[in-house]
Amino acid sequence: MSRKPFIGGNWKLNGSKKFIAEMSKVFNEAELDSEKVDVCIAPPFVYLETLRNALRKDWIVSAQNCTEKPKGAFTAEISVGMLQDIGIDWVILGHSERRHIYKESHELIGEKTKKALENGMSVIFCIGETREEREKNLTNQVLIEQLAPIKDIPDWSNIVIAYEPVWAIGTGLVATPAQAEEAHLFLRGWFSENISTDVSEKLRIIYGGSVKPQNSTELIKKPNVDGFLVGGASLQPGFVEIVKNVI
Ligand code: PEP
Repeated sequence: MSRKPFIGGNWKLNGSKKFIAEMSKVFNEAELDSEKVDVCIAPPFVYLETLRNALRKDWIVSAQNCTEKPKGAFTAEISVGMLQDIGIDWVILGHSERRHIYKESHELIGEKTKKALENGMSVIFCIGETREEREKNLTNQVLIEQLAPIKDIPDWSNIVIAYEPVWAIGTGLVATPAQAEEAHLFLRGWFSENISTDVSEKLRIIYGGSVKPQNSTELIKKPNVDGFLVGGASLQPGFVEIVKNVI
């Protein structure tokens, strides 16, 4: 089963109008066959429209979060409907910085994911263990716990799973290709047993955590690594090399 590679660039709390103009120029000039790869950039909320207008149309623009609430007295929140109103139909949910810094629970992330999917959005759903959990051999258990709240979603065609070990995010400590493959294989097995073999075969499971152009070539050779979610390196022109390396 061949799955179309997916590369996401998560800009986190970085960017400006000037930066968007500069990076869009680099990205738009890159010669890439977009039939062969899905590419997505997630800027901060306030720059979604600026980036959407500047960036090549064959690349996706994604939000970095949203609320499960439809509207009302929820200061500073952004709804699924608002994202769709400005033409954004992808969202990253469950990023480890949301889970750990902002204490978003597995249940809340599950609710947000269901709300987004039910309303026709696509979701990059992030999961991953901390260093301490890995050292205690709890990696698989943590992944299962993080997936549990979305186990009953009826349609998996609009979701990409990002396996992002917390110890590898922004640390320079990339998982080895063998470590990434081991976790992805475990996840594929879980989907096969708990959802269906069809979903397990079709679902894209991407790796995130200190991916750079140099390490992406070995990681992508692993049969269950279907692409990457890239933080720091997506703020550099070299992001294009990561995209090229997966094709
Ligand atoms: C991320 O934020 O999802 C990420 C993987 O960051 P970095 O590539 O900087 O480790």
